[in-house]
Amino acid sequence: MKIAITGGGIAGMAAGYLLSQAGHAVTIFEQAEKCRPVGAGILIQPIGQTVLKHLGIYDQIEQQSARLDYIEAIKHTGRRLVFLEYRRLRNQLFGLGVHRGLLFSTLYEQSRNAGAQIRENSRITGYIHTSEGVLLELGAAGQSECFDCIVATDGSRSILRNASGIRHRSVDYEYGALWKTGSCTAVTDRLLQMVEGTRKLVGLLPIGKDQCSFFWGLTADQFAQYQRQGLEFWKQEVRQLCPLAEEMLSKIDSFTELTFTTYRDVSMKSCWTDRIVFLGDAAHPASPHLGQGANLALEDVWEFVGCLKNTGEFASACRQYESFRRSKIQYYQQVTRLLTPFFQSDGWLKGWGRDLFLPLMCQTPVLREQMLKTLCGFKHGWASSRLDAP
Ligand SMILES: Cc1cc2nc3c(=O)[nH]c(=O)nc-3n(C[C@H](O)[C@H](O)[C@H](O)COP(=O)(O)OP(=O)(O)OC[C@H]3O[C@@H](n4cnc5c(N)ncnc54)[C@H](O)[C@@H]3O)c2cc1C
Repeated sequence: MKIAITGGGIAGMAAGYLLSQAGHAVTIFEQAEKCRPVGAGILIQPIGQTVLKHLGIYDQIEQQSARLDYIEAIKHTGRRLVFLEYRRLRNQLFGLGVHRGLLFSTLYEQSRNAGAQIRENSRITGYIHTSEGVLLELGAAGQSECFDCIVATDGSRSILRNASGIRHRSVDYEYGALWKTGSCTAVTDRLLQMVEGTRKLVGLLPIGKDQCSFFWGLTADQFAQYQRQGLEFWKQEVRQLCPLAEEMLSKIDSFTELTFTTYRDVSMKSCWTDRIVFLGDAAHPASPHLGQGANLALEDVWEFVGCLKNTGEFASACRQYESFRRSKIQYYQQVTRLLTPFFQSDGWLKGWGRDLFLPLMCQTPVLREQMLKTLCGFKHGWASSRLDAP
């Protein structure tokens, strides 16, 4: 088939590789002027690691990333709220703190080497059906090109999601985060989050080579206020909550070195319709609090290409893919939706409930096992996904 992939991010590049390898003529359209290894840290869970093994890039990624033994959340008073050790579920398990840029550039190379055409500076604005296939509309120049089908991987703010007419519900969170990647030797073996109520959250995610991804949760209004109060005022707040971030803070000279991002939650009635399927964040963006975004995206791609191989036909593949994936995606969306306000929201009640119940949940073996299975990406498992357990 002649396949258009719209959006050359993590899902788009992985799909480009697997679909080219399967013998399809693949073109990836990316809006960025140049494909570059941008972004900060992402957490690759055991399920995501399994997909990377199947893609043949696991060793390369693992060597340059950080092995995380556990995730931890600590209250400003010093009380531990979350302590989840991967090995409590199975001995060899761990999380992998990875620079998004590393994962992206590795997938980019793979995709290109497998024969996918990558068109940069190509923003997709819509598509229309014709008797031969789908006509993809490209940017301001009014160009268009015909394909047999579209794999839409244009991320959380997908334009094609609206254009497809598939019913969906979309919510923008008020809270987002300031991000930065830099040197930090104080935290190497865990994802550390420090919280005060539900309005202050700071995190350090090691990503290898003595680097960490730093994040500070806040709303756009709070960011504007910090900018008025000055960098030193903000640094003092961070320091107070998380002294381990000092090395990172000492190298920040201006707010312009930090990136502010907000989150969106979208659920689609169906992830496909005539000749178009949505994968990754284009299909199910969520807040990053459960650390699943890139993992679900990689798994989506692996699963969809498997279904296409199985069925040999686009609509049947989409049907099979949806029946395999629906319950897992719904589960992870619901848990993320439930969890998010307990870490970032206004009011004191949710923070109080979280501080009371989370430590108990982590200490209760049955609940801890369920939490770990969720974290690892194992819930609604791999019977459907045909992935071997790691
Ligand atoms: C620049 C960038 C930096 C990121 N940094 C982080 C990070 O630091 N930490 C983290 O956890 N997650 C980050 N993410 C999100 C993370 O990559 C995704 O949540 C996850 O990997 C799922 O990947 P995806 O391919 O579905 O979406 P994405 O990785 O978001 O990829 C979507 C791609 O589609 C392209 N695109 C969008 N609209 C169009 C269009 N109309 N036409 C053509 N191309 C289009 C985008 O430019 C992007 O390359 C980042 C995403 C991007 C795009």
